[in-house]
Amino acid sequence: MDQSSDQQKKEIVTRFAPSPTGLLHLGHAYSAKLSHDFARERGGRFLLRMEDIDQTRCKPEYVDQIMDDLRWLGLTWDGQVRRQSEHFDDYRRALDHLEREGLLYPCFCSRKEIQEEIARSAHAPHGPEGFHYPGTCRELSAEERGQKIAAGDSFALRLDMQQALSRLAAPLSWHDLIKGKQVATPEILGDVVLARKDTPASYHLSVVVDDADQGVSHVIRGEDLFYATHLHRLLQHLLNLPVPDYLHHPLIVDENGKRFSKRNQSVTLKHFREEGAPPSRVLDLISGSINR
Ligand code: GLU
Repeated sequence: MDQSSDQQKKEIVTRFAPSPTGLLHLGHAYSAKLSHDFARERGGRFLLRMEDIDQTRCKPEYVDQIMDDLRWLGLTWDGQVRRQSEHFDDYRRALDHLEREGLLYPCFCSRKEIQEEIARSAHAPHGPEGFHYPGTCRELSAEERGQKIAAGDSFALRLDMQQALSRLAAPLSWHDLIKGKQVATPEILGDVVLARKDTPASYHLSVVVDDADQGVSHVIRGEDLFYATHLHRLLQHLLNLPVPDYLHHPLIVDENGKRFSKRNQSVTLKHFREEGAPPSRVLDLISGSINR
């Protein structure tokens, strides 16, 4: 192997990828700091990405505040901030690929219809993230689909999980920096949505496309996304994308053992700043509150 490709292979690239739907809180600060320090301590790059595909919930003022809060904490990022809302064409290309492979189907169901269908079934399959989509629209004929589309019914695109799994020659795995080798079992999530009715992508699709486009070598994020990684690993395989290593960190909690929420203003970085707290106060809090 020549030296340049060897160096390329070893480059450490991490990212922090908040959704600008609210203010950053202590939990975000912890995740961002871990990811930042991981890269910096290894001479790598740290990237910032705004996961703003949901244009109804994301607000420009949160984007500005997030960047300002990170700078205040002393976290600097490399290069331009990537905004997912500027990359819908990339996500469309990924969807087209999956569509050509026969791995997607349109789903016309409303949330209410899905819930009713689940309630009707005595053995509705479920996994760690709740009930699976019951598969109603997977069974539609091409003609029925065509009629609904022609009638202007809105639809999401779902991954046909069984089809996708049938394309695997061997089980997929990834390297988790805390848990070691993990075998991916994406079937625990069922037929997930890859393009929403209101947005031509979903979190799962955009995150794997972006991590690959941005050359992220280590995805560092909360353990609440551990199950999502099972699916992300499958999508990487289906889309021929490189596989980063993962670190799913524990979530920091408040004194009642509860996760911080964007709704709790008192733990937002903005609040600490308005109270005149120095950044070291936040850094002390996040370093002392793991698994309290
Ligand atoms: N945008 C996600 C969030 O704010 C994070 C996604 C990720 O790190 O993969 O929770």
